[in-house]
This record gives sequence, C-alpha cells and structure tokens, in this order.
Amino acid sequence: MATTTTDSTTTDQSARERAVIDAVPKQLYVAGEWRDPSGGGTLAVEDPSTGETLCEIADAQVQDAQAALASAAERQQEWSRHPPRERGEILRRAFELIMERRDDLALLMTLEMGKPVAESAAEIAYAADFLRWFSEEAVRIDGRYSVATTGQGRVLVMKQPVGPCVSITPWNFPMAMGTRKIGPAIAAGCTIVMKPAQQTPLSMLALAQILEQAGLPGGVLNVITASSSGSVMEPLIRDPRTRKLSFTGSTEVGRKLMEQAAEQVLRVSMELGGNAPFLIFDDADLDEAVEGAMIAKMRNIGEACTAANRFHVAESVAEPFARRLAERMGQLKVGRGTEEGVQVGPLIDDNQRGKVQELVTDAVDRGAKVLVGAEPIDGRGYFYLPTVLGDVPPDARLLREEIFGPVAPVASFSSEEDALRAANATEFGLVAYVYTSDVRRAFRVIEGLETGMVGLNQGMVSNASAPFGGVKQSGVGREGGKEGIQEYLETKYVAMNL
Ligand code: NAP
Repeated sequence: MATTTTDSTTTDQSARERAVIDAVPKQLYVAGEWRDPSGGGTLAVEDPSTGETLCEIADAQVQDAQAALASAAERQQEWSRHPPRERGEILRRAFELIMERRDDLALLMTLEMGKPVAESAAEIAYAADFLRWFSEEAVRIDGRYSVATTGQGRVLVMKQPVGPCVSITPWNFPMAMGTRKIGPAIAAGCTIVMKPAQQTPLSMLALAQILEQAGLPGGVLNVITASSSGSVMEPLIRDPRTRKLSFTGSTEVGRKLMEQAAEQVLRVSMELGGNAPFLIFDDADLDEAVEGAMIAKMRNIGEACTAANRFHVAESVAEPFARRLAERMGQLKVGRGTEEGVQVGPLIDDNQRGKVQELVTDAVDRGAKVLVGAEPIDGRGYFYLPTVLGDVPPDARLLREEIFGPVAPVASFSSEEDALRAANATEFGLVAYVYTSDVRRAFRVIEGLETGMVGLNQGMVSNASAPFGGVKQSGVGREGGKEGIQEYLETKYVAMNL
C-alpha cells in the first residue's frame, strides 16, 4: 500500500470545523419544530478522511417518520393554495442565504462527505441554483383551454400539486440531490418528508434550517434522519396519504422502493445508478478529450452517477489518450478535502474502497494493464490512488458495474458501430460522453445512444435548467429544467358543456 499524510490541520482550522458542525441542528425537523426522536436514539456521522466521529444526530423511529408524514399531509391543502409568487420568493431567499453561507456549507459538506472544499463549494452553488430555477418556475405553472373537436364543448386542462411527497437522497451530493426535489415540490405546492443518507445528513439539516429562515411555513418540509432506513421509510411509502415517491440512489434500492410504491400506485421519480461510456473518436481533439475525461471521471472522486465509468477510444488514439490521462491522474494531490491544494478526497467508507479494489483486481487478473495507481492508500481514512487501466478486456467487471471511485478503464474500438454497441451494452442508461469533431457523426452517435443525457465534447452535463435523468435501469422521470416541476404536478382535464 502507498502512504500519504492527512494531518496538517491547524488549531484555527479545527475550531472552524467544530463551529460549522455545532451550528447545524442535530434533531428531527417535524411540523416546523426541531425535536428529539422517540426513544432518544442517536447515530454517528463520520469524517471519511479520518474515520472519526464528527457528531451524533437524531435516529428516527417509525413513529417519528409517521409524525412527519402526518404533518406533511395536514399542511398539504393549505400549502397548495399558498400564492405561487410567495412560494417562489421563499425559494429565492433560500438561494440567497445558501450563497451567503457558501464557505461554511462547503466546509460542512467536505467534513461529512470527503470531497475537496472547492468541489463542495461548486455543489453548494449547483444546489442553490435549483432553488433559484424553481423560484422562477413557481409562477409559470399553467394549463390550457381549447375548443373540442366537435366545436361544441370546451377542454380545460389544469395543473395541481401531486400532494405529500416522500423523498430519499444519497450521500454523494448531500445538498444538490435534496434541492433538486425540494425546489420543485415547494414551487408546485407539495409538502415533503425528506430522508437524507445517514452518512451525510448534516448538509440537509443545514438546508432545512435555511428554508425555515427563508420563511417556509412549518410542516411543508419535514426532515427525518435514521439508521434503519428500510423499516422507517417503508410504512410511509405504503401509506395512502403519500402521493409521490422521489428517490435518488442505487438501482438495487430503487427497484425495491418501486415495488413498495406500487401498493398505493404512487407517482415515482427514480434517479438511479449509471455506467457512463465516454467515447473518443479518432477525429476528436485529444487535448479537449483528456480535459473532459478528467472532469467526467474525477468530479466527486469518481463517486457520481454521471461519472465516466469506462473509456472507449478509437484504436488509433487509445494508447496516447491512456498515457496522457495516466500522467494527469498521477499528478493529482490526494488528501483530506479541507487541505489546501487537495484535488482528490477519500471514498465514502471502507466498503466502497473495498469494492473499487475488487473491480480493479478483477480487471488486472483478466489482462488489463496498470498505467497508474491501482491501490488503496494506507493510513487513516478511505483513500484510493487515482488509477488508469489500459487494454481493458470486454469481460472485465468494471466495464459493466458502477465503479464509484477514481478508476478509469480504457478499452479500444475499431469502428463507429463497435463504439455504439459497446456504449449501449449495459442495463444502465443515464449519460454518455462523446468526443468528435465531425458533426454528422456526433448526431448519428447521439441518436443511437440509449441514455437520458449526452455530453458532446464536454465532460459534465449537470445544469439546473436542464432535464436530468436516465432511461433503462437508470431511472424514471427528470429533475431540473422545465420538466422538473411537472413531476410534482397532476393534470386535471375538465370537459365543459357550454
Ligand atoms: P443507496 O444505498 O441506494 O441509498 C440511497 C438512499 O436510500 C439513502 O438515503 C439510503 O439510506 C436509502 N435507503 C437504502 N435502503 C433503503 C430502503 N430499503 N428503504 C428506504 N431507503 C433506503 O445509494 P447510495 O450508496 O447512497 O448512493 C449511490 C448510488 O446513487 C449510486 O448508484 C449512484 O449512481 C446513485 N445516484 C444516482 C443519481 C442520479 O441522479 N441518477 C445521483 C446520485 C447518485 P441509508 O443512508 O440509511 O442507507
């Protein structure tokens, strides 16, 4: 194992870290009150760069979750009638408060999730942008009126809030995955019970506090933190008062939750796993492709559903691309995300690091070449060296499974058809990246890709004004863009006899 040091925090820095953690409420947020869970249990939140406990927060029981749903259900009707302009203004104020507190929120996120502070600050801005976007959408909910085909009756179509929503988010983007759901729900006039991931609940608790300060009435947003997610959330998903389930997380859990949601025939939004192919054709600008690859692979330490999971490169440029990518990856500074100049933080936990190592070992056993990295870093925290593997054979598991770590497997293709076949050879369909300078080829390939999103000559697609989501087993529904609010609206048609 390689080694690194991660221990240069100064006393001032430690005091600041303590202060941002202390500022976050540690209780459940139900019916507009911060309250202790029944039984008074707590769960520990860990710093993945040290393995140490940052703090303890409330561990909700089933009855706490039920109280949260009762509050959301009770508030629903009144909230749906709340003036859209005011709903929008609450979101706008929350956007501004988040941006004012961006530095502290970024530090908080880094402490619980591990990514470098600059990346956390970028996520804070991205998260806030969903609130700003949906503050603007709140006043643009419309319907339509038309003359029926017979010329006699009239057709009136109106949009109404879906109703109380249960939302569940993952640990990898602790705030943005929340605002992508909370923003449109508030804008549409829905109430919410939100459950963040137990590994990164602090950013969500800070967000709830900000929304409260921005004037969100009590009971519209309720936040539950729990160590037993399954048993605490299942009764809510099966409860007839719930009208929608919005989940971001793994395909495995999403599938299970869709089964539970079937009982009440809930509206569902599912943002699930990915296995993004990154295609580089021989006519691509290789400098730009390497740049894009670094972003697509290394944003969020590779722990992103949109992370480039595999690089398929035209035979004639595969070797120089892999070599240049390996050079860049080898230069990255790994360490605690709070330290100056660090570009790669720890993985979320030892399980995740073990899984990454297992996938790398499998690829190497099948003949892949290690160009850089390929080992965990010894010492405190869950660090793994940025890794590039060349000549990865088609049967390697990491071409089929989500890696969720800083590992870039490079395989080659001999024709456009081969490239497209390899790209689509997966049950996932979230995003793909395409690098080419030939506009005709770009359109042929984009139209042939079985994904919900494509990055053309760019390594990042996330944008609050765009519809984010996948096809196949990457999910159902879209978050962000004009489409985002529609997920929280029902359509009612009135047949008018005039
Ligand atoms: P996960 O294990 O599926 O967990 C996601 C959330 O679901 C967490 O809050 C988790 O709570 C909760 N959960 C787990 N089992 C549950 C159950 N039986 N009932 C109710 N809730 C349950 O996923 P993760 O490891 O946190 O996140 C990584 C995955 O998310 C990756 O597959 C990634 O691709 C995907 N993701 C997708 C998108 C997208 O937009 N498509 C975005 C980000 C991430 P606990 O914390 O208590 O386990």
